[in-house]
Amino acid sequence: MSDKHSPIIIVGGGAWGLSTALHLNASGHTNVTVFERAQTIPSPYSAAYDLNKIVRPEYEDPFYTDLALIQEAIEGWKTPLFGPYFHQTGYLVTTTGAAPPKATRHLHEALATIQHHPVFKSKITPLAGRDQFRDFAWQFTGPLSGFSGYFNRLAGYAHSSDALHGAWLHLASVGVKFILGESAGKATEVLYETLPSSSHLRVVGIRTADGKVHQAKTTIVAMGAHAASLVPSLGKFAMARCWSVAHVQLTKSECDLLRGIPTTNVRDLGFFFEPDPETRLFKLCPLGAGFTNNQQGLSLPPSERLPAPQDFIPAEDERKLRRLLQEVFPWMANRPFVDQKLCWFADTIDSNFCIDFVPDTHKSLIILSGDSGHGFKMMPIVGKWVTELLAKGKQDEERWQWRTVDTRGEDWAKAVSWRIGSTRELKDLISEKKRLESARL
Ligand SMILES: Cc1cc2nc3c(=O)[nH]c(=O)nc-3n(C[C@H](O)[C@H](O)[C@H](O)COP(=O)(O)OP(=O)(O)OC[C@H]3O[C@@H](n4cnc5c(N)ncnc54)[C@H](O)[C@@H]3O)c2cc1C
Repeated sequence: MSDKHSPIIIVGGGAWGLSTALHLNASGHTNVTVFERAQTIPSPYSAAYDLNKIVRPEYEDPFYTDLALIQEAIEGWKTPLFGPYFHQTGYLVTTTGAAPPKATRHLHEALATIQHHPVFKSKITPLAGRDQFRDFAWQFTGPLSGFSGYFNRLAGYAHSSDALHGAWLHLASVGVKFILGESAGKATEVLYETLPSSSHLRVVGIRTADGKVHQAKTTIVAMGAHAASLVPSLGKFAMARCWSVAHVQLTKSECDLLRGIPTTNVRDLGFFFEPDPETRLFKLCPLGAGFTNNQQGLSLPPSERLPAPQDFIPAEDERKLRRLLQEVFPWMANRPFVDQKLCWFADTIDSNFCIDFVPDTHKSLIILSGDSGHGFKMMPIVGKWVTELLAKGKQDEERWQWRTVDTRGEDWAKAVSWRIGSTRELKDLISEKKRLESARL
């Protein structure tokens, strides 16, 4: 539906915005401009501003396993552009002996989608007990109490910040334009016009924080957790939610010791990766229902990431991570956490993405949102779905269509099968942090 020379604006140079620029450029679109509020890419506001993200194929919904991963995403990670950032370390998934039934059920349901699949059959090893886990990770010296799960040798992780940086450099070299920074690159408004001879609206571009107007035939909003600040109606069904991220600073020999360990997900506690050889940081994330920041009817990330209050993790998450370390690496369990932060993503009630035209905009405004905390692995292929959407002029995949439901005001995250616990509000976490700090004084 769009001619390949007409101007296209992508707002957001995160995982999905850059992927979209890559695929539009590869399919011959010559007039693509990416607006990014950060001064450089990777942006500290991106959910992918991180050392690593899990790249795994198992999902309870085989749609994502089959369509996205087996056929394309993992293959995309093996191409020259993405390959330097992909590490196929294998993926250990387990629950502890103390896991709630929900965590065990989720593990078995996700495993069922790949266990008998022809592509994975010979690549999955069920595991029970400490000795069997140590066959795959001899470095796990902790008790591994009641560990039961499997090893998937096809999966691993990607270095997410480096992947964003690599994609940016490539795109700049092939002529995609970038407008960066809090003034020139930050979109503050989507601009509409009324179509002649009707009352219908059409989006004609954006205004940026410096007051400039940028015209486009198609505007694509790929702002992750921040998107509802530009398109508030999205916030009814895709809300900003955050999880904690923490690191332990290792010495050279500790880092060398853990090189090559599988990406490991203990479904009732949290997950971790092999350490980053450059910074020697060992990253951990607790698993939970996440935290929201509801204000005036919308959950959005606080507008500034740095400095505090976001550079901490809640006490309940710290406890989970310390338990995880006691189970796996007791020698690390009391080490200080460094580089702690809350990382924001756009969440939907059923964890399905939204990749669609915004209704009543005459197919001039596209939203890429609802990554639901599992969208980074799709970076090599998200843009392909967007070019297909543009070419077809409609979203045929029901899971990814714009929704008219309003899911605000309910704590539905605790019902999501792969999350344990309940949602809390950022303001309560900040008060709790202040209380704990003053109790320590
Ligand atoms: C703690 C955590 C762990 C995760 N783990 C995994 C995992 O293991 N595997 C996995 O696949 N996924 C994981 N994810 C999810 C993954 O990070 C996201 O799915 C992915 O980053 C979504 O990409 P995006 O482009 O939609 O958003 P983002 O990557 O967040 O990018 C949005 C971009 O928009 C920019 N922006 C915002 N506002 C404006 C504005 N007004 N103007 C211009 N630019 C703007 C931001 O600076 C940012 O660069 C995790 C997420 C979190 C938070």
